[in-house]
Amino acid sequence: MADRDGVIWYDGKMVNWRDATTHVLTHTLHYGMGVFEGVRAYKTDKGTAIFRLKEHTDRLFRSAHILGMKMPYSKEELIEAQKAAVRDNNLESAYMRPMAFYGAEAMGISAKTLSTHVIVAAWKWGAYMGQDALDNGIRVKTSSFSRHHVNITMCKAKANGNYMNSILAHQEAAQDGYQEALLLDVDGFVAEGSGENIFIVRNGKLYTPDLTSALEGITRDTIVQLATELGIPVIEKRITRDEVYGADEAFFTGTAAEVTPIRELDNRAIGTGTAGPITKQLQKLYFDVVTGKSAKHADWLTLV
Ligand code: PMP
Repeated sequence: MADRDGVIWYDGKMVNWRDATTHVLTHTLHYGMGVFEGVRAYKTDKGTAIFRLKEHTDRLFRSAHILGMKMPYSKEELIEAQKAAVRDNNLESAYMRPMAFYGAEAMGISAKTLSTHVIVAAWKWGAYMGQDALDNGIRVKTSSFSRHHVNITMCKAKANGNYMNSILAHQEAAQDGYQEALLLDVDGFVAEGSGENIFIVRNGKLYTPDLTSALEGITRDTIVQLATELGIPVIEKRITRDEVYGADEAFFTGTAAEVTPIRELDNRAIGTGTAGPITKQLQKLYFDVVTGKSAKHADWLTLV
């Protein structure tokens, strides 16, 4: 990732991709205290547009606030930075990675004297788990790692350090031959994937876990709104793993994963063991909305 052409917005300036480096004593590198976002831009008829840029920027600032990190830039400046990162890299579609991290002024747990740095990188990134995953669904394994407890790390913050848990879970699932992990909360109820929220479908209704220990996904919110507009009831509640086994359909949502059908959990087929019809309907609508093909929610698109 580091050795390529392009530019990265780094503390207010565009710098060459290869020069966007930081010192090895960078505080966040040692302790994981930082916040980031994953944002996508899609090619539309009117030009490249960033999907739900305001909501992603709001969540970045909310994450920083939760961790007590002072942001050195305004939301407006970071909105412009994200647009510029796509534009200046000549990207028709993009995945964007804004991140705020502490500097290298001091070592030790105290962050009091540290400066906050901000970067925004943007690059072309296709289907997160591959096109086949979007078309036919993925095989998922319940993780032996629990999702964070709400009073250990802050689950509503998209914080760098939180992802150690995601990496452990994903690594375990991948080593066992699955494409993704499903994490349960500390009480054993379904929380989310390593980087996705989860939905199940039963008797024409959509169910998704409440947000106690899951990230407040922007794709999740998008799907809730789109399903509701289609007249599909959406119920937020605690879900058990055997409710997923017995579901008619299941899918993951996330900026990177978009709408990825789940065809199997723990070697049990979900429904017919393929991408289900409601999943497919919502996936198509999602892609139509993000690429501006649907007139619905044009306000979610920001041209770069
Ligand atoms: N949960 C976790 C742990 C994630 O990392 C992500 C990806 N940001 C999501 C859920 C989905 O969030 P969003 O739809 O906002 O990308």
